[in-house]
Amino acid sequence: MTELTCIVCPRSCKLQISADKETLIVTGNACKRGAVFAQNEMTDPRRTLCSTVATVFPEAPVLPVRVSDEIPKAKIFDVMREINRTVVKTRIGRGDVVIKNVLGLGADVIATSDLLKEKAGETS
Ligand code: SF4
Repeated sequence: MTELTCIVCPRSCKLQISADKETLIVTGNACKRGAVFAQNEMTDPRRTLCSTVATVFPEAPVLPVRVSDEIPKAKIFDVMREINRTVVKTRIGRGDVVIKNVLGLGADVIATSDLLKEKAGETS
């Protein structure tokens, strides 16, 4: 038996997962989303990732970013390395792609702020 805490909503149900031949049996979930979470967590755990990326602009040296889709949990540190070695050199805005298809995972790293454009407006 495996025990997990569901992180889909703030209720944080304690899930128990056991295997019956080829199917997983989930108990402790207060709704269906918990069962889906447990199934995914046992077979292909994924997470979203938010961080910041360096820029060349002294008035805004870092820009908030996130991945456009959930990525495999096991790849989070690899994606963080890619983010940490990236430097934004143009005044991109919210939703613009910083790293296209990061590590071939099918998700982009995108900007979540218009900070660089706003700062440009302040200085021009
Ligand atoms: S099982 Fe449902 S109610 Fe419980 S934490 Fe997960 S999403 Fe929330």
